[in-house]
Amino acid sequence: MFDAQPAASHFIDGKYVESDGAEIVVTYAYTGEVIARLHEATPDLVDLAVASAARAQKEWAARAPVDRGRVLTRAAMLIRERNDALARLETLDTGKPIQETICADWPSGADSLEFFGGLAPTVTGEMIPLGGDFAYTIREALGVCAGIGAWNYPSQIACWKAAPALAMGNAMVFKPSEMTPLGALKLAEILIEAGAPAGLFNVVQGRGAVGAQLASHPGIAKVSLTGSVPTGAKVYQTAAAGMKHVTMELGGKSPLIVFEDANLEDAVGAAMLANFYSSGQICSNGTRVFVQKSLKTRFLARLKERTEAIIMGDPLDEATQFGPLISAEQHAKVKAYIERAQAEGGTLVTGGGSSEALFVQPTIFADVTDTMTLAREEVFGPVMAVLDFDTEDEVIARANDTQFGLAAGVFTADLTRGHRVIGRLEAGTCWINAYNLTPVQMPFGAVKSSGLGRENSRAAIEHYSQVKSVYVGMGSVESPY
Ligand code: NAD
Repeated sequence: MFDAQPAASHFIDGKYVESDGAEIVVTYAYTGEVIARLHEATPDLVDLAVASAARAQKEWAARAPVDRGRVLTRAAMLIRERNDALARLETLDTGKPIQETICADWPSGADSLEFFGGLAPTVTGEMIPLGGDFAYTIREALGVCAGIGAWNYPSQIACWKAAPALAMGNAMVFKPSEMTPLGALKLAEILIEAGAPAGLFNVVQGRGAVGAQLASHPGIAKVSLTGSVPTGAKVYQTAAAGMKHVTMELGGKSPLIVFEDANLEDAVGAAMLANFYSSGQICSNGTRVFVQKSLKTRFLARLKERTEAIIMGDPLDEATQFGPLISAEQHAKVKAYIERAQAEGGTLVTGGGSSEALFVQPTIFADVTDTMTLAREEVFGPVMAVLDFDTEDEVIARANDTQFGLAAGVFTADLTRGHRVIGRLEAGTCWINAYNLTPVQMPFGAVKSSGLGRENSRAAIEHYSQVKSVYVGMGSVESPY
């Protein structure tokens, strides 16, 4: 077995550091084998990480943006060179198929570092003529940002937060999820190798309390969290007390609407991608699949056929398309949602089974109604709810009837309708005749309870910087005194 044990639990000030906090045991979800043993950061160690980041940030922010950008671009190149080994580590850490981690996880992190590396020197201020006098603006770093990650895309999340933050001259202290602590340490190593100053990107391990310490830390200027809505509410509240900036990437129950004129194969394929990729552990998943009634029978037949052909198995086998869930806790939670969907009257189309090895079969329920738990709560597992609808107005109202607002998708051959429907959906990230594609050029984020702020694209720059306005007097000062 590949050696996944890092040199020590944390990466602070350019080197691995150990602590004597509570143990974090990392297992490979497929076999239950222990792959690493780490320790939580103690409060003193978190203070040390923030202080080290503050020192690095001063030097880093003073560098020319093109020099900062070069470090990020170099880090992207190193990730691409090592993608095979990094993907393997990601599969061990998360249990996701290597087929996915090799093309989706670190590659998307590398895209982010490359994109923001290139963008760094293009960020400029405004010159505001005032008739003799003038003003100008400077986009400045916030300071030390805290990144707190979820377990489903641990390395991608670390890169998506670090890249715009560092590009703008900030430093970051990153706390990965306690379930998947390994990838962020690799990013810390790679950034140092690419030329980042020691302390610019520190990693501290821990559970919620370590995240909470970062969110309330006086040395932290911004908190960027990827996690669930309840955690987001707590972190946002803590950050508000210190008047800190926040980015919140939280959960969802996103609608995917399939009109009767949609290309059937594309719509079925997208619904599967939107529910079964990463065994359904994706925030933006289209877990409420609304299908127009006239298409329902054909849609369900093809969906069942294609879903039953999904290859489940050893995530390290390249042929495997579907892996286990992250943990026994998540496995139990998803199974309970399946039982509840059956009890509340959903029709099980396929799946529903589970195994000791943390697998839950790709599962589809039809005849789901808006009030059923399966249509209202985020499952974060491979359970698709198919709901019927008749009219466009009806489906829009039903799709919007949720506290969440992360993503939405529409499948139709009528592009006018596609744009019209998307225009009325309450969601931050939308797709027409596609689903779950998140290129770095496109802003990614949510509305309503699913979060605020944007990751990726030029939009992320605004969430990792602040504007300084400078008024320049060119004449004598007119004073009434
Ligand atoms: P979680 O909310 O349990 O934990 C997220 C992170 O927050 C972890 O690192 C955890 O240790 C930390 N944390 C927990 N309590 C904290 C506290 N009080 N203060 C500070 N930090 C605290 O989420 P999870 O189970 O790891 O991930 C699944 C959730 O993440 C799902 O709801 C999913 O939709 C969401 N998610 C959202 C996005 C997005 O971009 N919108 C992406 C991936 C996952």
